Amino acid sequence: MTARGRVGRALALGLLLASCSEPAPLEGRVDLERLRSAEHEPGQWLALGGGFRAERFSRLAQIDADNAAELGFAWEYEARSRRGRVEHGQEATPIVVDGVLYVSGPWGSVFAVDAKTGAERWRYDPEVDGGYARHACCDVVNRGVAVWRGRVYVGTLDGFLVALDASTGRELWRTDTLIERGARAYTITGPPQVAKNVVVIGNSGAEFGVRGYVTAYDLESGAQAWRFFTVPGDPALGEPEHPEIAAALETWDRDSSWESGLGGTVWGEMVYDPELDRLYVGTGNGTPYPVWLRSPSGGDNLYLASILALDPDDGRLIWHYQTTPGESWDYTATQNLILAELPIGGVARKVILQAPKNGFFYVLDRETGELISARPFVPVSWASGIDASGRPVASATASYRNAPAIVFPTQAGAHNWQPMAFSPVTGLVYIPAREQGMVMANEPFWRFAPGELNLGSVAIYGASAERLPEPERTRLETRELLIAWDPVAQRERFRVPVGSEQYAGGGVLATAGNLVVQGTSAGRLALYRADTGTRLAEIEVGTAIMAAPVSYQIDGEQYVAVIAGLGGAVASVHPRESAAWRYENYGRILAWKLGGGPTPLPRPREIRAIPEPPVLPNLSAAGAARGERLFVRHCARCHGGRGESRLSSYPDLFGLPAQTHAAFDSIVRGGSLSSAGMASFADVVSEADAAAIQSYLVREQAELRAASASGAGRGSP
Ligand code: CA
Repeated sequence: MTARGRVGRALALGLLLASCSEPAPLEGRVDLERLRSAEHEPGQWLALGGGFRAERFSRLAQIDADNAAELGFAWEYEARSRRGRVEHGQEATPIVVDGVLYVSGPWGSVFAVDAKTGAERWRYDPEVDGGYARHACCDVVNRGVAVWRGRVYVGTLDGFLVALDASTGRELWRTDTLIERGARAYTITGPPQVAKNVVVIGNSGAEFGVRGYVTAYDLESGAQAWRFFTVPGDPALGEPEHPEIAAALETWDRDSSWESGLGGTVWGEMVYDPELDRLYVGTGNGTPYPVWLRSPSGGDNLYLASILALDPDDGRLIWHYQTTPGESWDYTATQNLILAELPIGGVARKVILQAPKNGFFYVLDRETGELISARPFVPVSWASGIDASGRPVASATASYRNAPAIVFPTQAGAHNWQPMAFSPVTGLVYIPAREQGMVMANEPFWRFAPGELNLGSVAIYGASAERLPEPERTRLETRELLIAWDPVAQRERFRVPVGSEQYAGGGVLATAGNLVVQGTSAGRLALYRADTGTRLAEIEVGTAIMAAPVSYQIDGEQYVAVIAGLGGAVASVHPRESAAWRYENYGRILAWKLGGGPTPLPRPREIRAIPEPPVLPNLSAAGAARGERLFVRHCARCHGGRGESRLSSYPDLFGLPAQTHAAFDSIVRGGSLSSAGMASFADVVSEADAAAIQSYLVREQAELRAASASGAGRGSP
């Protein structure tokens, strides 16, 4: 059925339903009343964060610190989200309602399975054109669905918001959420959030150059209710869309880089607060990164890297708090938001908690937006602290305008999208944290290039920092940690090292059984004591876990479940510690319970020999050198570079078989593998460019093959 046909049918159905009394939905029965009293139904997991406070805390205590070692495999469901030869990452948190588990996967696919057995109820494929993958900075991931009154809402990679029947997975409506479709590289990777009568969705794409906004739609009809832009548009092209944009304009240069869209995308989890009737939204980084290229005279650049409280009825701004004024380091504030009531100076206050990429832990009053406290939870160099007015005290050493600078933390974030959890029992927040520094350098000749990465800067950190000389190399080493943070005292209670490579630790779950549960990219599910951090058990899974686990109960048995699968920001270069180096990487939902068996491991990874490269008629050293530059610009972002660490979600271009070489131009420029996710690059890669890239690949392939034949190298992953 065409999209128009689907909408037409949905409208007709909507009219039909409106004319009779509305039948109670069979499945997916989540509403505000139920969400508000979620504490009385600890067996459910009704929203991404568990309940409306989004604490990611389960009040179940059957699995506890005494019996955690008896946790065993209950069931698995293979997500089968592979397209062509590419397996994409899994970043979503499941929602479990009345025995059914709903979770999204790559492209905005949705799986609904029996939460007791793993049997499939339905699956939904939004049938996104595979070529759209080119617009995604960090894989075609999706971070979750919203389940509400018999419907499942999900955003698709290509920018649609879709409502599905929770009982059948049938599409009820879909609406185009994008402005400038086709002209800008917008994607949706974040989850929708229901706020009273509307469902709200943001988008991604600030690395390419888009203008951030969130849009609210009527839950029933999908009709647009309001839209809030997070940054101004070019004032020469029209009046500000809403009063908050007029106010924000004062914080931007009149000669800002309007054509770049300016960024500020909303790609993380939002939260609706029914106690105060407002929606909290975290916004992302600027485009390009350096403020001096984006807004030459500087300025705070509202509402980049901010937490916003919006009125769900009309989208008006109630308050805002900007975590990083003049954001220049990709310091998003899209990280997960937790609502709590904390004793502050002896008074119980309604607060919102966030640990954004910039390394500070923030406690804000959620009635007023007033900053209560902020302290760094890892080494931070861009600011020396936060002053009494709530503004960070910027550090001159973090500017890379005139010379490269070492900055802590990195673009990967002191904390990224992997959700943190809060236990009201221990009073601690458990942060998947990262101690890491970077060398950041300016690109003074940057000009906006539509459809391409527009960073205006380069940064070296993580695996690429291994190239640096001492002592910088040691100084910039990555430490992945699980940090238990006391949000009242603003201090660390304990820390657990979880690895030395980026994104080693996944999202976190805390439980009333005195447990903290976290998966690792090494392919293990770890259980710790929530009060001390003592490791109680570690289950070998064989599949990297990035997403956050949840817990629920069916027929008297408590389960822990997670969706596993490596990709996302490390899709182009899988960390060496990751399970993908040892086992086949594919998406799987896994569930465990007490007394379960050993978890089945995936097949060991197959190491293929490097095939003989073809003999190209016009192979020249100059052509290969030019091809290398083009490869770095257009190909490496997904496929990864040549070298020992080149294992990637995408096909290895340094070991292509003969038939792929023969079809090289038709793939790169003709788009013949577009449906599998390899878009045509004909708009930016000429025939001669493609030939140069292939020359480079053939030269490297011959070298690698010779090295592996002599035993000096390894096979092609
Ligand atoms: Ca970013």
